[in-house]
Amino acid sequence: MPNRYDLLIRGGLVVGGSGIRKADVGIKGEQIHAVEPELPQQEASRVIDASGKYVMPGVIDVHVHPVYEDNMGGLSLTAAHGGTTTLVHFAYAKPGTKLIDTIKKYQEEGSQNSFLDFGIHGALFDPSSQIGEIPKVIDLGVASFKMFMTYAKLKWMTDDYSLTDAMDLIAECGGLAMVHAENGLATDYLEDRSLKKGEDQKEVFLKTRPDYLEAEAIFRALSIAAITHCPLYIVHLSTAMGVGPIERAKAEGRPVYVETCPQYLTLTNEALLQLGPLAKIGPPLRTEVDRLTIWEAVQRGIVDTIASDHAPKVKKKEDPFFEAPYGSPQAESMLTVTYDEGVNTGRIGVCRLAQLFSENPAKIFGFYPKKGTIEKGSDADLVLFDPNRAHVIQHRTQHSKAPYTLYEGRRCLGMPIFSMQRGRILIEDGVMKAKPGGGRFLSTKIKHAED
Ligand SMILES: [Zn+2]
Repeated sequence: MPNRYDLLIRGGLVVGGSGIRKADVGIKGEQIHAVEPELPQQEASRVIDASGKYVMPGVIDVHVHPVYEDNMGGLSLTAAHGGTTTLVHFAYAKPGTKLIDTIKKYQEEGSQNSFLDFGIHGALFDPSSQIGEIPKVIDLGVASFKMFMTYAKLKWMTDDYSLTDAMDLIAECGGLAMVHAENGLATDYLEDRSLKKGEDQKEVFLKTRPDYLEAEAIFRALSIAAITHCPLYIVHLSTAMGVGPIERAKAEGRPVYVETCPQYLTLTNEALLQLGPLAKIGPPLRTEVDRLTIWEAVQRGIVDTIASDHAPKVKKKEDPFFEAPYGSPQAESMLTVTYDEGVNTGRIGVCRLAQLFSENPAKIFGFYPKKGTIEKGSDADLVLFDPNRAHVIQHRTQHSKAPYTLYEGRRCLGMPIFSMQRGRILIEDGVMKAKPGGGRFLSTKIKHAED
């Protein structure tokens, strides 16, 4: 007779958004078969001892860019080493390309190379000619669409006309609009003025992308979303000043979701002054007051998700600042630095951490309860996290192709030591055990008020 469980994870502390309990997790095939104390060990093909460890739902990182140093395969590898089991990638439909073709290309590449299950967001770089494709793209299983309110000079910016047009259609089709909220034209003016004056770019970087211009764009996006009745997801909230308008919109009961990133919770502009272009990200690293206010917003439930904005670029400290590209590697260090700054300091508990990293993203993008929770019938996507494992973050032990990490030498207490997806072991003893191409495409589905 075959065993009742293929794998039994024994004696760990099972973490969910609403609580924590000591229980065994029995896995059969791709799914969790039982979560109960004292499951019969003799009925399992393999037993893993998890005593003293947290058994957490795998991290669902909904903000990654597989178009730079890490492709969909490489990105899934580095993310997996950090405790992530599911990714949602931004598919960049550059001007002159069709959104549909781009989505299909990403679906194909992911199915061939990804170690992890993955979804896709459409990223519109040329909305006026790409918006019309939205209904067909939703049929392909992609229901979220990102637009940039910034990067005007790069010609990535969506103006308010197209933003309103897009949100109107996205709302009608049952999708979700996502925005990078910074006022692109005003920041470009400030940058030009500063370049003309020949100011030290690193010093003025913050001044050229000030908090007012993020808060203004957040308010504008919220306003356009309100009048078009469009669900809105604000990516990478970085500034204290953005919290107020978001809080009001949420109090009014509007479908507004907010993400922040580990870098805004664990670093400030001090890192920018030390590391120069390496720490050039958009929105910029901000002040200690911003960092603490974002933590407060996390604690008060204003922030819904934490995601990495993993965008690894080749950069050197000495590069000319304004020519250096935006972005940093974050996927692999995300869980451990956020745990260290959030849980070890007592700011949040481990259950809130599981909400931010797993449960909420699963709910927002329609993966729940298949993913984002450890329950009977859910996919066996889980991570063992050792809260007593001290370690030092170093670029040389990470798996991104980025030539650096912003956390070099940072000491952290607690790290993921084992992970699996749908019963397949991913990371064990620091090594990827699964094969590329084992990940599956996941359709996103957005919950609307009428549903
Ligand atoms: Zn991003």
